[in-house]
Amino acid sequence: MENIFDTLTPSGHTAPISEGELSDEQVLEELFSIKKRLGNRVTVLGHHYQQDDVISFADITGDSLELARHAAKLSEETEFVIFCGVHFMAETADMLTLGTKKVILPDLRAGCSMADMANRIDIDRAWNFLTAHSQGKITPITYINCAASLKSFVGENGGAICTSSNAEKVITWGLNQGEKLLFFPDQHLGRNTCFKLGIPLSEMVVYDPRKQNGGLTPEQVKSAKVILWYGYCSVHQGFNVDQIKALRKKEADRTIIVHPECSFEVVQNSDLAGSTSFIINHIQQAPAGSKFAVGTEINLVNRLAQKFKDKDIQSLSPYQCLCTTMYRIRPRWMLESFRAIENNQAINIIRVDAETRKWSLKALERMLEIV
Ligand code: SF4
Repeated sequence: MENIFDTLTPSGHTAPISEGELSDEQVLEELFSIKKRLGNRVTVLGHHYQQDDVISFADITGDSLELARHAAKLSEETEFVIFCGVHFMAETADMLTLGTKKVILPDLRAGCSMADMANRIDIDRAWNFLTAHSQGKITPITYINCAASLKSFVGENGGAICTSSNAEKVITWGLNQGEKLLFFPDQHLGRNTCFKLGIPLSEMVVYDPRKQNGGLTPEQVKSAKVILWYGYCSVHQGFNVDQIKALRKKEADRTIIVHPECSFEVVQNSDLAGSTSFIINHIQQAPAGSKFAVGTEINLVNRLAQKFKDKDIQSLSPYQCLCTTMYRIRPRWMLESFRAIENNQAINIIRVDAETRKWSLKALERMLEIV
């Protein structure tokens, strides 16, 4: 009888193609040949946070929006997009390809813990409470890291989507639309950006859907300028001020650069904060010999260290801040997806329904008009 542990991947899930069937090397070899055979029919998109063996098969790498935009521009020859990222990213790619490609997520369990902290039922409930206690208009802004149903909510209610690269512009636009802003699902990106735009912390409140009325009184809602959803990225919460203090004591000349999904205290105590693209560009342009401690996902930090060997790059955290949901995309799952395409029985296709797509695209269009 086959031992179940023979089929477990490092992430602890049963692999579709067991190690008894194919070794890791054989998986990579078959992936290489099958990808070559399928040629332009398949394009592999790889998020920056994926591991190197997955990235080695990517035709295009980028952050979530860059990948979705590339998907929208793919040639007619491409029938399938293998999206090596997480669920909400594959949904965005499907929306932007307007149903002309089949977007495949190799492992359907590759979700995002932050995106999962906001769902449509909770957002509708919060909206009813907040609008009932606000005299002026509330503009909803969502970080792109959320389910399509929430992007659709924002489109229907006059709001826009933002990314970590353009959050400042989109939030500025949102603040000019009405009295208040509802920002979800990431409280940290919302708080860090609003503070940078001059809004004091005293004018921001956190809505926690696990509490009655989000834990807010009608008076708190009335006096707030910004209502932040309680969500957060568990990976970026792995960075803290103690790490910064310890590093500063040891190496005062190392630049600390972090992602704005980190907490307010971490961002305030760092030298620089910005999106994934900002971090990559800044490090790329820094002179040889520069030293960085980076507060973002470990696969990206390790790849930057490999790529820019003339610089000294390390993680801000001594622990591995790994996105375990991204980690679910492994070559074995990719091979299963490729085999299914070759057998004309594609699996794990991500499809967004027409109504959700319509309103989500409206929210995306608004973002593109703003930035
Ligand atoms: S790094 Fe954080 S926000 Fe990004 S996919 Fe992973 S859990 Fe979600």
